Amino acid sequence: MIVLKSRREIEKMRVAGRLVADVLAAVADAAVAGVTTEELDERAEERIRNGGGIPAFKHYQPDFIRCGPFPATLCTSVNSEVVHGIPDGRPLEEGDLLSVDTGAQVDGYFGDAAITVVIGDGNIEARLLADATRRALEAGIRVCRPGNHLSDISHAVQELAESEGYSVVRRFVGHGIGTSMHEDPPIPNYGEPGKGPVLKPGMVLAVEPMVNAGTWEVEASPDYWRVCTRDGDLSAHFEHTIAITESGPDVLTAAEGLSGSL
Ligand code: MG
Repeated sequence: MIVLKSRREIEKMRVAGRLVADVLAAVADAAVAGVTTEELDERAEERIRNGGGIPAFKHYQPDFIRCGPFPATLCTSVNSEVVHGIPDGRPLEEGDLLSVDTGAQVDGYFGDAAITVVIGDGNIEARLLADATRRALEAGIRVCRPGNHLSDISHAVQELAESEGYSVVRRFVGHGIGTSMHEDPPIPNYGEPGKGPVLKPGMVLAVEPMVNAGTWEVEASPDYWRVCTRDGDLSAHFEHTIAITESGPDVLTAAEGLSGSL
């Protein structure tokens, strides 16, 4: 069941969303060669708590029992890691492709977003992949309008990514979000247009393309969390939390001052 949010609830979600945007901007600034993802994680947790939020990913325990709870505030996925990478003590190196996903809960409502950055100035291949993934997300956001179907988002994301010669991950999808981090509906990043529920004002969706340089196939590590590309090639990830309004998409995880826009 898709839970529609009132205007008041959407404004509460914007508070959580802006905190997430602020944390991701700070992480992007701090992500330089020599810094470890554990250090980034510590700063992110502090920033969320100082901003009145609760890290949404830390101790997150999915319904199934084959893994322990996620241990950190950030998912940091480097190079061939697709999603759910666990921060560690390895210093980042020039040219690393770093995807950072985080969520915060403020006053009972969640925000969820992800960005991908390249460490240093080099690695044009990584930069092109990250840029295409960001544009795939933007293509998905543009069709977040009342009257469109859910799979119009999926199709727009897939079309952009594949037109640039990349592939989209099938196994992980976006999701509704609100008073839970994951709500209905699941939002695949691929598919035919014109299918699934009709989008309505009050729906709030976390759209999150995961785009691979090579094959779309992925495999999970034995601890369940860390997911890598099957061919070892690069992967990038962008995400925003978006409210559907009468006048179109309202990006709740946009930085303050960029209200509603990208
Ligand atoms: Mg998400």
